[in-house]
Amino acid sequence: MGPEEITRREQLARELAERLPGQGVRSLAMTVVDNGGITRVKTVPVSLFERTARFGVGLTPVFEVGMVNDYFTSSPEINGPAGDLRLLPDPSAVRVLAAQPGWAWAPADKYTQEGEVWGACQRSFTRRMAERAADMGFDLRFGTEVEWYYGRQEEDGTLVPIHEGPGYSMGVLAQISDLARDLVVAFEEEGVGVDQFHPEYALGQLEISLPPHDPVGAADTNVLVRSTIRAVGLRHGWRTSFSPVVIPGHVGNGGHLHMSVWQDGANLFSGGNGPHGMTEIGESFAAGILAELPALVAVGSPSVASYLRLVPSHWAGVYACWGRENREAALRFVTGMVGSRESAANLEVKCFDLSANPYLAIGATIAAGLEGVERKLRLPAEFVDDPATHSPEELESMGVHRLPSSLADAVSNLERSDVLVEAMGPTLFNSFTAVRKGESETFAGKDPEEIAAAHRWRY
Ligand code: GLU
Ligand code: MG
Repeated sequence: MGPEEITRREQLARELAERLPGQGVRSLAMTVVDNGGITRVKTVPVSLFERTARFGVGLTPVFEVGMVNDYFTSSPEINGPAGDLRLLPDPSAVRVLAAQPGWAWAPADKYTQEGEVWGACQRSFTRRMAERAADMGFDLRFGTEVEWYYGRQEEDGTLVPIHEGPGYSMGVLAQISDLARDLVVAFEEEGVGVDQFHPEYALGQLEISLPPHDPVGAADTNVLVRSTIRAVGLRHGWRTSFSPVVIPGHVGNGGHLHMSVWQDGANLFSGGNGPHGMTEIGESFAAGILAELPALVAVGSPSVASYLRLVPSHWAGVYACWGRENREAALRFVTGMVGSRESAANLEVKCFDLSANPYLAIGATIAAGLEGVERKLRLPAEFVDDPATHSPEELESMGVHRLPSSLADAVSNLERSDVLVEAMGPTLFNSFTAVRKGESETFAGKDPEEIAAAHRWRY
């Protein structure tokens, strides 16, 4: 962030500090998402916004190695109690929180005390990858889908879901319609466009799809929306779980990631001569993601619980293949309806979930896609049905492999991924993998029920 950007942020923060109290807002919640996928917060009175936009507030770097259970591990760069970071809220992303009266929210970037971007700042990583894409002439759009569970847990551990299905049913919508209305109104008040909302298939599960944004904006919106879902749920007496698996053996919560690549105002996933209208660059971007997917899942499906969700025939996309509208392929290509394809065509990564840090998931996906473009990769043949219905021999002959079935395997792949190691840089990469390994060790030998319970209310 150069001096001009700092001046611009200070100016905007000053205006907001004057305006927000008139809207009943007195406090600012500033969030970062750590390598454990937990959204951490510090708050200041809005009267201190200007100063905070300039000099930030302190946070110990040890949170980079914080795990889902709130224990800390360590990395070569981060260990022990010493050191401090500055969290600088981004005033241009401020939103008034609709379900937390008196509060505004802003995502923060992490800086060193010397005023430099901190090497492990996840939000800055996304920004860096978006800039890399822009330098290559591309404008990227990302949209996230959020699936979650609303429920209660009795003292004896019994789970009470907000609904018991049928999935996608009007019956469920009728049952939850006051809460659903409050959610939709809250999103509107926060300026979050919602593309769709529906009762999902699993017990207690609901879903919203968010419209496309620039990469950092998509991750910011994901954080805001999840905070809002949690706050609205609490007002109606329900707890929220974004954990990949709430009840072992059941369909889990996905965090599907949609994206499109644009150049000179044109969507490179349509209007071309490649598969289903992809342009050459669009196809290469998709092929780059497919090639890195066995490593990318360590970033996009990064918890031990992720691997309880990533099982075949659960619409989680556990095979490294692609297909048009194939919900069992890790990469689903969405063309949209004829007439809308120029804007609608997009690529969906289905295997990701919401234990992921959205900044990292988006940034790493960009790095993989751009690598595919640089190497002019082509997609293999499309897969049009459920890979799990084919024999291992057939899959082998088609070159289709299952994605890693454990976090430890995914992390090994990540460590071998030159693309992602280079893109993340040592401080981020080492702290991220330290957390993944720490969690893998923490839950080694635990049964699915224990793993689900330990993750259920954490994200
Ligand atoms: N809940 C499924 C998952 O774990 C996804 C269902 C859908 O395709 O929307 O990803
Ligand atoms: Mg869904």
